[in-house]
Amino acid sequence: MVEAFATPLLRKLQAAVKEFLETEIYPNELRWLQASFRGVESEIRALRKKARATGAWNPHLPAGHGGAGLSLSEFGQLSELLGTTPFGHLAFNCQAPDAGNTELLLEYGSPDIQQRYLHPLLAGDIRSCFAMTEPAYAGSNPVRMGTTAVGDGEDYLINGHKWFTSSADGAAFSIVMAVTNPDAGNPYQRASMIIVPTDAPGFELVRNIPVMGHAGEGWHSHAEIRLTEVRVPKTNRLGAEGEGFRLAQQRLGPGRIHHCMRWIGICERAFDMMCRRAATREIGGGRMLGQQQMIQAWIAECRAQIDAARYMVLHAALKMEKEGQRAASTDISTIKFFVAGVLQQAIDRALQVHGALGITDDTILSYFYREERGARIYDGPDEAHKASVARKILKGYGLKVRQNE
Ligand SMILES: Cc1cc2nc3c(=O)[nH]c(=O)nc-3n(C[C@H](O)[C@H](O)[C@H](O)COP(=O)(O)OP(=O)(O)OC[C@H]3O[C@@H](n4cnc5c(N)ncnc54)[C@H](O)[C@@H]3O)c2cc1C
Repeated sequence: MVEAFATPLLRKLQAAVKEFLETEIYPNELRWLQASFRGVESEIRALRKKARATGAWNPHLPAGHGGAGLSLSEFGQLSELLGTTPFGHLAFNCQAPDAGNTELLLEYGSPDIQQRYLHPLLAGDIRSCFAMTEPAYAGSNPVRMGTTAVGDGEDYLINGHKWFTSSADGAAFSIVMAVTNPDAGNPYQRASMIIVPTDAPGFELVRNIPVMGHAGEGWHSHAEIRLTEVRVPKTNRLGAEGEGFRLAQQRLGPGRIHHCMRWIGICERAFDMMCRRAATREIGGGRMLGQQQMIQAWIAECRAQIDAARYMVLHAALKMEKEGQRAASTDISTIKFFVAGVLQQAIDRALQVHGALGITDDTILSYFYREERGARIYDGPDEAHKASVARKILKGYGLKVRQNE
């Protein structure tokens, strides 16, 4: 926690959440991860019910909408704490992709859409997913996509093939990105966001994609989806026709702050485990692992990297709060690749210090190592963000570099 940024409300919620994590989640998380999601779903439902009583439910949303009423930078700091366990955000109903979808529905959902989809989502009665990426097209340049939504009277008929639709298994609806305006001159004005109930005829969950040997299920999964002649009313569209990418951009800015602060929580957990192990693992002759200079260097470097990452993310969040998302876009790209790199190194070093134990599923480290490799890919791969940052810097030196040049 950064003391200078801690408001009384944030402090109160942090204390309540910390106690909740310690008593309700940490003692159970390995068992939940090793069981099938369906097998522990009723326990998770009970956990979420208890979490509501702490006052930190929906911490990413304004108080008027059943949220805790935190600012983006405050929520980021709570997100760090929640991120120390894979079940933190889920317990408090601010897990991806629901958090971002909720924000979209709040801003762009009609009263009817809000009644049918937003309110049950806020209550934690249903889950949702977000389907943009497609196996046949490079997701890092998402303006190219094959999914279409063609007008048919009052309805759209949607056809397409998506994958890596996180948490689709068991979700009540998906926000689907589909081309509605193929002839628009600007490729960023060709697609729209449309709500598709997952029980609509033609919506098929083909499979939960195995990731590094582990096929997740339920909230904890990434699905391949096929849409065949799926009919939904045009009133299910969010925003105007062709505004899909504008809305996506709006969703991604705060979403990247959320992800980065969650990653810092993972870094802190891995760092704490690394230090505990280094301080207690004897390697012979009464010497502890932490007495080796190589390990000391890792500890010092990780501490510096994590602290730097936290300040960078809070700086980006505060800038976004004060000056808007556009003004903070370079900061957001910078933290997206930088913090993902800090995360990879913190987990890898903690795992290495644990030796063989580190790669077993007896600690949380192997889960973080496997699951968070994706951090350098989702929400834009490292390379796309680095290119974007460099383009903007070079522009200041008079060199114009076109996107994807
Ligand atoms: C864990 C996880 C969860 C996800 N969840 C969702 C979800 O819920 N919904 C959804 O729609 N999508 C989701 N995605 C998909 C994600 O958004 C895409 O994987 C991402 O945008 C990259 O697209 P791609 O996989 O098609 O890679 P490609 O676009 O094929 O790129 C492959 C590689 O090329 C390199 N590259 C790309 N651009 C550049 C560049 N400009 N310069 C240099 N090198 C470059 C990068 O190394 C990149 O990793 C998820 C992905 C992961 C891993």
